[in-house]
Amino acid sequence: MLHKIKMPERDPQTRKRDFKQVNTGYTRDEMLAEAKRCLQCRKPMCIYGCPVEVNIPGFIKYLFQDNPKEAAKVLSLKNNLPAVCGRVCPQENQCERACILAKKGESISIGNLERYAADATSKDYNNTPVENNGIKIAIVGSGPAGLTCGGDLLKMGYDVTVYESLHDAGGVLRYGIPEFRLPKDILNIEINKLKNIGMKIILNTLIGRTKTVQNLFDDGYKAIFVAVGAGLPVFPKIAGENLNHIYCSNEFLVRVNLMRSFDFPNYDTPIYKGKNVVVVGGGNTAMDSARTAVRLGADSVKLVYRRTENEMPARKEEQIHAKEEGVEFISLTNPVKFIGDERKFVKTVECIKMELGKPDESGRQHPHEVTGSNYMIDADMVILALGLHPNPILSSLTNGLHSDSRGYLAIDENYMTSISGIFAGGDIIGGGTVIEAMGMGKKAARAIVEYLKKTE
Ligand SMILES: Cc1cc2nc3c(=O)[nH]c(=O)nc-3n(C[C@H](O)[C@H](O)[C@H](O)COP(=O)(O)OP(=O)(O)OC[C@H]3O[C@@H](n4cnc5c(N)ncnc54)[C@H](O)[C@@H]3O)c2cc1C
Repeated sequence: MLHKIKMPERDPQTRKRDFKQVNTGYTRDEMLAEAKRCLQCRKPMCIYGCPVEVNIPGFIKYLFQDNPKEAAKVLSLKNNLPAVCGRVCPQENQCERACILAKKGESISIGNLERYAADATSKDYNNTPVENNGIKIAIVGSGPAGLTCGGDLLKMGYDVTVYESLHDAGGVLRYGIPEFRLPKDILNIEINKLKNIGMKIILNTLIGRTKTVQNLFDDGYKAIFVAVGAGLPVFPKIAGENLNHIYCSNEFLVRVNLMRSFDFPNYDTPIYKGKNVVVVGGGNTAMDSARTAVRLGADSVKLVYRRTENEMPARKEEQIHAKEEGVEFISLTNPVKFIGDERKFVKTVECIKMELGKPDESGRQHPHEVTGSNYMIDADMVILALGLHPNPILSSLTNGLHSDSRGYLAIDENYMTSISGIFAGGDIIGGGTVIEAMGMGKKAARAIVEYLKKTE
């Protein structure tokens, strides 16, 4: 069969009114039909396309035999978060792109099959903690990089404690990616599986402030893995950006996802529900913000992006879903000014049309303003989703922890920072996807073990 079995999804008109999951997951028959498409290549290129090295044909073979339990075991050898990856990984750019079937038709739906195996076995808990060797390792940050590095070290017999500054674990998986793409119950299951085998997670602790890295070494930790992510929002630096009801995407998504403002009256977190919303940006964060604004009850959500849809970094699936849910895409357009009313609440976005020029350092055509093409869009709420920079808190509070000119922590080929015994990975050193962060966490775990062998 040349084509993938399509992932079933809820009707846009219904789903845009709630925060329940959009993709509903394969049925058993759909899973079997899709698993049957796998050629079980002798030299499986898909594995090379997976940053965490999952034995993809291995788990699909068990699914084809209708044995999700064994499939999940194969997945868990390499991936601590399969239900998460099955939902949010851009497989189309990684394992699925490398699939041999993609040359003639459509690749295997590796992500959808991974999700099936993980969900079918979500209740299979291993409650026996892994025996540990008493060597303590601290992980700073509980996002995918931290959970992967910590999970792998735990499975290799180390005593792992994860420190998280927020009141709940998961990093962007918790506070950034909305419930309708990644339900928090699913994330909780995967985190609880790690806790059940011995991972300690200490919340509400900002390393650098509540405790310093020196305090951690003094507490007996032999190595530290820093995975503090990229949580610093980028602002456009244009007039009016401090007006009321202009949010950065992080604040908006944190209020909705982490602090669950969508779930009133169970949670009473204040959030402004805009009627005419403008979202600025073209990445996953912009799509998530726009689709969240739709669900909060906006009459109109316009996504303003300075390049064309071809250059949008957001996953294609998210773009399609956003459009189906009524988000209007306005490409080759950039805001130049936000205009407020007499009480300093935003009421208009002044935009300018753009055209594409020569490629810039990102390899994409650089957008230029079209002189005199300014026009106005009415908006009572604006969400800025222009990208995120590395989180500067820990490096600014830790003497000797060096960053590069863009704020990314400097590391050597073994993920070691400028301070001996402190390693780093994930968005704080670069990357930008869940699976890349996990891949770095995995490699850093191996490097930490080598370092400990040499120093102990
Ligand atoms: C809205 C949004 C949607 C996205 N969608 C996708 C997607 O669909 N697919 C995809 O592959 N990628 C997506 N990404 C990117 C992906 O989520 C990130 O690349 C990934 O989460 C990075 O993982 P990380 O572990 O490095 O950092 P994070 O996930 O950022 O986790 C870092 C954690 O460290 C904590 N922390 C920070 N400083 C300290 C400190 N000093 N002490 C203690 N804790 C600290 C933070 O609170 C946070 O919990 C998205 C990103 C955003 C923002």
